[in-house]
Amino acid sequence: MRKTLYIIIPCYNEEEVLRETAKQLLKKFESMRGKISSDSRIVFVNDDSKDHTWDIIKELHEDNPLYSGINLSRNRGHQNALLAGLMTVKDYCDMAISMDADLQDDIGAIDEMVDKYYEGYDVVYGVRSKRDTDTFFKRFTAEGFYKIMSKLGADIVYNHADYRLMSRRALEGLSEFKEVNLFLRGIVPMIGYSSTSVYYARNERFAGESKYPLKKMLTFAFEGITSLSTKPIKMIVMLGSVILGISILMLVWSVAGFFRGTTVPGWASIMVSIWGIGGILILSVGVVGEYIGKIYLETKERPRYIIESFLNDRKRMTGEDEK
Ligand code: UDP
Ligand code: MG
Repeated sequence: MRKTLYIIIPCYNEEEVLRETAKQLLKKFESMRGKISSDSRIVFVNDDSKDHTWDIIKELHEDNPLYSGINLSRNRGHQNALLAGLMTVKDYCDMAISMDADLQDDIGAIDEMVDKYYEGYDVVYGVRSKRDTDTFFKRFTAEGFYKIMSKLGADIVYNHADYRLMSRRALEGLSEFKEVNLFLRGIVPMIGYSSTSVYYARNERFAGESKYPLKKMLTFAFEGITSLSTKPIKMIVMLGSVILGISILMLVWSVAGFFRGTTVPGWASIMVSIWGIGGILILSVGVVGEYIGKIYLETKERPRYIIESFLNDRKRMTGEDEK
């Protein structure tokens, strides 16, 4: 039996690319008729764009019920928009693929992902085989990020962004994760089930600018590390013990020096240690504070998104409304 596929696309100020993305996906869906049911949908999640993105989504939906739209009540960022989409459709679909609006993720890989789903995999990661189209800086920072993440103990798939297929079962699993500090690529491997990867070449953005400037990227990386692992705290404890050890040795050494009468007025060394230790302390307090901040946010249990409207014409396609 053909299964139902939903594609979830978070969109923030994507008016320049949206129509092209919709067109290409429609073509893809038509070519996959034999594989997926006619209830399958393309769902655009509007992350409170400031341009005409939502108008375009509404238009697309009017023209063809294959296109659905979800409008968030305010801008919540890529990860939350994605989650809003996935959680909204999980009861309608058998599998959902998440991808970016800008056509950077190769649409061609959808076939292979769906094939893997039929082979029995619950999660299929889209992995970038090369990064030719990224600037050296982006490549360097992004690959460095994956390496640091795995060193810090976060189980993430190397060079995989948020282009992936998840089965309904995996989506149900995802819905059990209640955390507010969302870093989906770290959470999905924690769901478990059988997973595999498909490889694709990442294209250049079709049009418009990246919605992830350096500042957002750094925040995202930091979010990833602190929301997934508590290793930084352990590292601070280690650092603290080493420094404590050194200071005890220094103490012994200076007391011994005092009795031998070899001490000199050590203004420089005092200043250096005050500044050094002061700096480390502040840094440590900062990192610990970061975790406390996260606990604070988690305890509030704020909604991660609020949906303003959901355009989904399930009946128009299946013809149920004639009854
Ligand atoms: N996006 C979003 N909300 C935001 C920022 C981005 O929904 O606040 C969407 C954006 O429309 C795109 C995806 O997230 O579909 C990835 O963003 P982008 O392509 O700008 O990131 P990059 O590929 O440059 O890392
Ligand atoms: Mg992009």
